[in-house]
Amino acid sequence: MITRSPANVQTKTQVVASDAPPPASWQRQLAGAIRDPLELCRRLGLEPNWLPGAVQGHALFEIRVPEAFAARMRPGDPLDPLLRQVLPLNEESLVTPGYINDPLAEAEHRPASGLIHKYPGRVLLIASPACAVNCRYCFRRHFPYAENSPSRAEWQQALDYLRDDTSINEAILSGGDPLAANDRQLGWLVEQLENIPHIKRLRIHTRLPVVIPERIDDALLGWLNGTRLQKVMVLHINHAQEIDTAVVVACKRLKEAGVTLLNQSVLLRGVNDDSDTLASLSERLFDAGVLPYYLHVLDPVAGAAHFDVPDNEARELVTSLRAKLPGFLMPRLVREVPGKASKTPL
Ligand SMILES: *Cc1c(COP(=O)(O)O)cnc(C)c1O
Ligand code: SF4
Repeated sequence: MITRSPANVQTKTQVVASDAPPPASWQRQLAGAIRDPLELCRRLGLEPNWLPGAVQGHALFEIRVPEAFAARMRPGDPLDPLLRQVLPLNEESLVTPGYINDPLAEAEHRPASGLIHKYPGRVLLIASPACAVNCRYCFRRHFPYAENSPSRAEWQQALDYLRDDTSINEAILSGGDPLAANDRQLGWLVEQLENIPHIKRLRIHTRLPVVIPERIDDALLGWLNGTRLQKVMVLHINHAQEIDTAVVVACKRLKEAGVTLLNQSVLLRGVNDDSDTLASLSERLFDAGVLPYYLHVLDPVAGAAHFDVPDNEARELVTSLRAKLPGFLMPRLVREVPGKASKTPL
């Protein structure tokens, strides 16, 4: 089946790379992820009435759930907060006014293929079109990845842009999920970035250490340990239940490699829209050595309106959260406003 989903792009690159070494454990887990509505419903023991919505949503944006993530869900519970993030509901097919394909207007800020420069001092590099998990609320669910999957030759254009702009000191690997790329590609890209003297920080926004903790393996730690760049990793965790022992171990290995660990969440109806849930998340993050960074309100992407929490409710939530946590465990409540030079606090 031909879909325009990120997953499809990844499958193609894997087929082409015939000189690649045997797949690592995380790559086998990635390839074996649940990608079928019936399999997902069966695996979680859901009643048959959940299937039609899942099938319809899957046709819009492919289902993808690694087994290690599915294993943290409660079987038979359609309201499980992890399942909610990955199971398409009937509501996805509804057209909601104001919910559009490119809510962040990223298409207007692409000076080179695979490069987004919206904020001063830092750029986003789309290091991989694929994700290990497809989140239903994702603001890039309609992103034209096929136009933004640069080859090494095309990366030169993005790298030239970075070299020419000495005001940029931070390169942010994004995606898709940048850690869905293999370590040879990532090691090469980081080496290119290192060769640009004014780049001092490497930031990686990823969900892979959460959904497939074995991604944090020796090959990855090899290039992380080897770089002169300061390293920041922003994980993406929405609920404390996502953090199991394997995730804690992955975080520990990253910290030992000198990586500063932060987390961003999205405020999601039915997943984490109460202050006790958010307080447990912050506590559990800190136990794993991770500090809360952002709590994003939902971007108005078509198909995700059912996750929305209105602004006034979001502010009230954060006020009651502040009464439960020390200041350093408070995430910043923000929105991405197209055209603004930074995230906008609510
Ligand atoms: C969010 C974002 C960044 C990073 O912003 P910080 O506030 O530094 O975390 C950079 N570029 C783009 C396009 C972004 O959307
Ligand atoms: S939220 Fe992140 S991990 Fe999830 S589908 Fe979007 S880019 Fe991928």
